[in-house]
Amino acid sequence: MPHLGNYLGAIRPALTMAEEKNVEARFFIADYHSLNTVRDAELLRSYIYEVAAAWLACGLNPNKVLLYKQSDVPEIFEMTTILMAFTAKGLMNRAHAYKATVDLNRSKGLDDDHGINMGVFTYPVLMAADILLFDTDYVPVGKDQVQHIEMAQDIAGVLNRNYEEELLVIPKSRIDEELMSVPGLDGRKMSKGYNNHIPLFAPEKELQKTVMKIVTNSQGVEEPKNPGECNIFALFRLFASETEERALAKRYRKGGMGWGEAKQNLFALLNSRIAPMRARYDELIRNTEGIDAILTEGAMRARRIAANTIRRLRRAIGVG
Ligand code: ADP
Repeated sequence: MPHLGNYLGAIRPALTMAEEKNVEARFFIADYHSLNTVRDAELLRSYIYEVAAAWLACGLNPNKVLLYKQSDVPEIFEMTTILMAFTAKGLMNRAHAYKATVDLNRSKGLDDDHGINMGVFTYPVLMAADILLFDTDYVPVGKDQVQHIEMAQDIAGVLNRNYEEELLVIPKSRIDEELMSVPGLDGRKMSKGYNNHIPLFAPEKELQKTVMKIVTNSQGVEEPKNPGECNIFALFRLFASETEERALAKRYRKGGMGWGEAKQNLFALLNSRIAPMRARYDELIRNTEGIDAILTEGAMRARRIAANTIRRLRRAIGVG
């Protein structure tokens, strides 16, 4: 289940981008990527439904944009095999995520490759297949993923130089510099890793309890407070209208409002914004056949596009 940071920093901007003119947006659930770390079948199955339900509940319209499950499109794995033959091992050695794991192993006195499976090591090739198979022009990514897009560009370039110049579309990364960083309960960036997150679709009572855990200073009820130095306010303004934001800022500066009341204000605002999405999410999770139908339809559409690229490649490399 995503948290407020994922929603504001990734889901909402991606769905806004999908609405842009002349954009044909494609979203997929990277379930085979997650096999590298998720080894519990029931858990993986429930994650897949949670991810699909979350995006649909946040407004992804499957009639307008393509939504599919990676594992439903076997062409991706044929594409991966083709790309593997054109990927220098040294390129994979240089991947930041892989290097960071090696460094961590070294710092602990472990073998360099401790805990690293081939899925993790070759992850950028599968990612390149995800991208290149669909003749993707732009991939919206955070800064940490730019290197992987560059690898997809490199690999596509090797094929194009070997066969024909326009065999594969060279993708570009699209980084949104304006993306916000949503603070968590303790004021650090909200992250599951820090366990300071607010789950987006937590039931109302749980949402309230989580909001009550936000860390504040020890100012008393009567003291005027600075909205600019407060985690509660930082979260409030991300969801509030300008009028709501100004009204709460005024109450902070005036004094007479304790932290409990400020948290109550934030909870009420969050709950009013999230409730309709949460209802939709709960409905989708209760009836996963609805999600299955959407993903099956998505896979059919995705495979039509994928089959074209694979045919083109098979011909070009001499197996088709
Ligand atoms: P987490 O840190 O909780 O594991 P992920 O790394 O899975 O989150 O992030 C998934 C997406 O959500 C990424 O695009 C990331 O940039 C975005 N994201 C995560 N946390 C935040 C945050 N606190 N503020 C803004 N965007 C975030």
